[in-house]
Amino acid sequence: MKLLLKYGGTSISTAKDIQNVAKHIQSLSKQNQLVIVCSAISNTTDDLIEISQSIKKEKKKKAGQLVKKIVSRHQELAKHIIKKSQIRKKLLQTLNEYFAELVALIDGMVLLGEVTPRSMDYLLSFGERLSIKLISAAINDLGKESVSLTGKEVGIVTDSNFGESKPLMDTTRLRISKTLDSLFSKKIIPVIGGFAGADQHGHVTTFGRGGSDYSATIIGSCIKADEIWLMSDVDGLMTADPKIVKNAKLLKEVSYLEAIEMAMFGAKQIHPRTFEPLLTKKIPMKIRSSFNVKNEGTLVTSSPSLSSKNTVKCVSNISHNGLIDIRGGSMVGTPGTAATIFTTLANASINVMMISQNPSESSITIVVKNTDLDKAVSTLEMELLGKIIKKLEVTTNMAIIALIGSGMRGTVGVASKVFGAMEKNKVNVSMITQGSSELNLAFVVKNSDANTAVKALHNEFELSKIN
Ligand code: ASP
Ligand code: MG
Repeated sequence: MKLLLKYGGTSISTAKDIQNVAKHIQSLSKQNQLVIVCSAISNTTDDLIEISQSIKKEKKKKAGQLVKKIVSRHQELAKHIIKKSQIRKKLLQTLNEYFAELVALIDGMVLLGEVTPRSMDYLLSFGERLSIKLISAAINDLGKESVSLTGKEVGIVTDSNFGESKPLMDTTRLRISKTLDSLFSKKIIPVIGGFAGADQHGHVTTFGRGGSDYSATIIGSCIKADEIWLMSDVDGLMTADPKIVKNAKLLKEVSYLEAIEMAMFGAKQIHPRTFEPLLTKKIPMKIRSSFNVKNEGTLVTSSPSLSSKNTVKCVSNISHNGLIDIRGGSMVGTPGTAATIFTTLANASINVMMISQNPSESSITIVVKNTDLDKAVSTLEMELLGKIIKKLEVTTNMAIIALIGSGMRGTVGVASKVFGAMEKNKVNVSMITQGSSELNLAFVVKNSDANTAVKALHNEFELSKIN
């Protein structure tokens, strides 16, 4: 089987974890052709981001301290992981070269006193550049041949939208197949850095936070992998957050579409574009834990065999949001009202999570994160109050509760079950949305009612008996 394994940062954060990952790779390699994609070691990307903030604030000393933290983290790991002295020496030498480059880059940025999107991506790419060296050396240390490649080196070509780039898939496919086919023929295991690629001028670009998942599916689709496994510290997708619902269950199978919805909410955050490359190629994906490899995890496919049996597969919640009710008589029957409101918010870089408008058209209700609420309200007040808007009503500390499952489509009585359960538990519902895909039914309650709502729905749909 041609297998692509992607490891998240928490799966490779200690020497023991990395050794276990290398052993698992070694044993899988006996039966399979492997490609490995890695995130940065835990906390490294966060530290790099903090370095960029320190540079902006002209806190050179702080930036220096953070670099030291990154250096010692990787040096310590290298010393503990690698048993063969020659491999260890070579690894430490390579790491030192990277550290010198990192320091030089930061010095340059400090001198200029600015962080451009391009220099930021270059800076952030160091996390994965360092991690792949450690993982590849750990595999070598077990006597198995492996090389490390950055996203740029393997052939991921993107547009020049730094910080949120998109791959140019045709060029990427050609380059990746060429690079990897030659390694496959020599039975060498490639360890590829996720998160980053390069634009057509060779400048390093990144896909945005969590982008290694996206790298994995880009590469997997280019080489037509038989399966892609996302290895992290969670067992898979769950019917609910186990911290809220004690008998929450692991979902054995979900569809791509369901997984996209769940990824937005659940404990396993997946980069939103991850599933795009899989949709046409229909490559099965498994979401698994590197700490519990006996557990098969959640299988994500285009047409899961079990899916039709369950109306609802999972109930999740996002707390700490604000609800804004926008009212005004002149909104009724006036084309362009919604466009004006949303353009105004977009210009202020505010992300709207939920929208609803009733047919009377006299109000539009939106939900934004609590952290965006202040800015959203003041922007609307400044730009539109007294014009198309008469009144804004704001409620803070609200939670979105979402039910996800493709079986809801066309099933009669889901809404009555949901809101019946809310009534029984005396939970007030402030807003409701359901797209016509019927894949996701979401509503808003007070933060303090969120856990009650999740538990009640998990019970109502008997999700502990799923699978
Ligand atoms: N290291 C990057 C991040 O932390 C990419 C990833 O982990 O997928 O966002
Ligand atoms: Mg990560």
